[in-house]
Amino acid sequence: MEYQRLIVCHECDLLFRKPSSVKGRRAACSRCGAGMTALPGSGWPLDWICAVTLAALIVFCIAQSFPVIELRANGMTSEATLFGAVRSLWSGNMRVVAIMVFCSAVLFPLIELLALLYVLVPLRLGTLPPRFNAMVRLVQLVRPWGMVEVFMLGVLVTIVKMVSIAQVIPGPGLFATGALTLMLGVVASFDPSRLWAVRDEIGRSQMADVRWSRVSTGRGRFTRPLGARQAGSPPAITARRAGLVGCHACGLVQTPIEGEAHQRCSRCEHVLHERRPDSLTRTASLLLAAAFAYIPANLLPIMHASSVGGSEDDTILGGVAYFWTSGDWPLAVVVFVASVLVPVLKLLVLTLLTVAASRGSGWRARERATLYRIVERIGRWSMLDVFVVALTVNLVHFGSLAVITAGPAALAFGAVVVLTMLASLQFDPRLIWDNVDAGQRHTPTANDEVPAAPFPTNRIS
Ligand SMILES: [Zn+2]
Ligand SMILES: [Zn+2]
Repeated sequence: MEYQRLIVCHECDLLFRKPSSVKGRRAACSRCGAGMTALPGSGWPLDWICAVTLAALIVFCIAQSFPVIELRANGMTSEATLFGAVRSLWSGNMRVVAIMVFCSAVLFPLIELLALLYVLVPLRLGTLPPRFNAMVRLVQLVRPWGMVEVFMLGVLVTIVKMVSIAQVIPGPGLFATGALTLMLGVVASFDPSRLWAVRDEIGRSQMADVRWSRVSTGRGRFTRPLGARQAGSPPAITARRAGLVGCHACGLVQTPIEGEAHQRCSRCEHVLHERRPDSLTRTASLLLAAAFAYIPANLLPIMHASSVGGSEDDTILGGVAYFWTSGDWPLAVVVFVASVLVPVLKLLVLTLLTVAASRGSGWRARERATLYRIVERIGRWSMLDVFVVALTVNLVHFGSLAVITAGPAALAFGAVVVLTMLASLQFDPRLIWDNVDAGQRHTPTANDEVPAAPFPTNRIS
């Protein structure tokens, strides 16, 4: 059974009554502070997102086709392009790192843009494209792994690094990557789970001439809570307590089938989980693997430089110390935060969350939920050093004069980033709140308080 007028917070499982449209605003859960997804009419209008996605695809092609940096030293010139960086790593026997850089800076952002356009353009024309569910799921799947903005910071760090040894000229690819970063920021603010509501709207109307503006903005009135919240009233109910489950992909609230381990959502066909299965075991295993990979990532050299004057190995911390002593302290701080502090912070916070959840602790749930959201957002920035290595390797190849190759720490470091990101994706944040609202299941009644989705003050369109 489906509950079209309910919505569930994907981070703390709290149930809300769904408004018919939030008219371009964003809403956050009143208990855990997470942004509510799958709200009809939230965020930028679909027309805007469609236009920005198309523009981003064009800029993406420009960014890939032109060099991002040009280096001139001793009358010799060298250029770095994104594909060139991948090729240099590949030919330098760093194939796994080459695949990581290619996927995070080229393949996944491209898949996201193409899949979004594939869905948005037909919706714009009032029709449903084939394999709609699979395409929207694909956007949700690749989104956390696209890292164009981290690559952009990597380019800037490489420029500052190279300025002291050679003449650096920014290429057209740099400006295109900068514009692409801004555009992808707008695209990333779009919540793809909204598209299922648009699809339902088109399906319901069954008219060939559905007006796009009506579909995207809606004109419904906000629903009122079933019962007004009063002092001393019982806490609001969660989906689990009400015997319901919210789909993690499209947000539809429905009744779980007893004994069905792999029940699929009746709307988007995504597998439904009341709680992610084996979440804590998987998170702990991935964290352990990441902690092991973190040791060689810091001890082994990340780059190997050889020139006529001799050869030199460079570790991450050695690089930070070099920048600090040579007066480039802003660069030292950026590299230290992204490469040393963020991975350690992520390992510590996720360990704390896993231990607290496994012990059934209800201690400071809101603060723990905030910590989880912070590590989920900042984890990707650790890829910075991997991008810097890829660009430097591609830039510095002046024959027998000077050559820089990637060291084994680049692989270990890439593994730390991927493993910690997988760990945070495997952790189910609803486990933080389970001990706060531990209670018996019961069938929802009219007396249960199901508040309307909260409305924030930040109107963005
Ligand atoms: Zn919540
Ligand atoms: Zn679903």
